[in-house]
Amino acid sequence: MPKIKETTLEIDLKALRHNFEYLKSRMSPKTKFLGVVKAFAYGSDSVLVAKKLETLGADYLAVAYAQEGIVLREAGIRLPILVLHALPVSFNEIIDRCLEPNIYSFHTLKEFIKTASEKGQKEYPIHLKFNTGLNRLGFNTSDIEIVAALLSETTSVKVKSVFSHMAASEDPSEKPFTLKQIDRYKTIVGQMERLLGYAFIKHMCNTSGILNYPEAHFDMVRSGIGLYGFGNSEKENKNFKPIGRLKSIISQIHHLDVGESLGYNMAFVAKEPIKTATIPIGHADGIGRQYGKGKGFVVINHKPAPILGNVCMDMIMVNITNIDCSEGDEVVVFDAHYTAEEFALTAQTISYEIITAISQRVKRVVLE
Ligand SMILES: *Cc1c(COP(=O)(O)O)cnc(C)c1O
Repeated sequence: MPKIKETTLEIDLKALRHNFEYLKSRMSPKTKFLGVVKAFAYGSDSVLVAKKLETLGADYLAVAYAQEGIVLREAGIRLPILVLHALPVSFNEIIDRCLEPNIYSFHTLKEFIKTASEKGQKEYPIHLKFNTGLNRLGFNTSDIEIVAALLSETTSVKVKSVFSHMAASEDPSEKPFTLKQIDRYKTIVGQMERLLGYAFIKHMCNTSGILNYPEAHFDMVRSGIGLYGFGNSEKENKNFKPIGRLKSIISQIHHLDVGESLGYNMAFVAKEPIKTATIPIGHADGIGRQYGKGKGFVVINHKPAPILGNVCMDMIMVNITNIDCSEGDEVVVFDAHYTAEEFALTAQTISYEIITAISQRVKRVVLE
């Protein structure tokens, strides 16, 4: 492995392949797989991940916003791309770049039909989202008949899928709620199919849904976090391999005497003589200010080095008093062993937030 010389996110495509194959092993071979590559493929590299998913045999991709889909199209990705949070301002570009919008409200439905017909489209593929309890985006059950009526008046668009999203698929204590969502979803797609008179793709599960609710896989599943190596439970985490390893180096070592302070606002004061290392990674790189003051650690020569004082924009300082190390040595923020999930837990957050926060300034290196 090449020596790390600056803050680097290594992206392990073998791990991505493992996660994809593991998820597929939990599905029927008939079920389609949609890979969620929004937010730079959860903080990694969306083009790289999308290309790999395309060669691995994914059926669909999804992004949050149109701009993310345009980047994939410009990189030559050919798979259909669902735009999960399609905003009317992007409807023209969505059509120009062959992206497929999630239509979740009467406003977006009317606007999209208008744009599609103005652009002379016939049966442009759209995806209808129904709210079954998350109350975030989606039509309500009571909207079904009006939605179907609006669709029957146009040939500019055609429903390619009807989907919903689970609110707590990772939480066993909320199983009754999830089962109610699944029931509502079944009623919705039954009615929609009857009213539209044609079949469409049905999908509802995110990663934890895939793992915990096989009865709700329907025609397709949508996985994000699983692809990136997290199963949202201690048991399932063992079956996945984190694809990202965030590493850095020691820029400088300092020796502090008793009473000396460290960093901005004297947030740390040495009570005994200590040795500290300055690491070139800060809140502008994705290590939030909820870390520091002893919360969170990096790993140097297999030993934990707690983050001291306040996290700076471009740096953190860590305690290396009991670690044999030198300037230039490698620092692990998280990898396959010290995972982003554990790093997240020390700050009461989740792996999703930690990995998607790794800023674009951090160098990406691909491990094939
Ligand atoms: C982000 C997202 C997903 C992926 O969820 P994971 O928990 O990361 O698998 C699936 N569906 C929708 C609608 C999403 O917004």
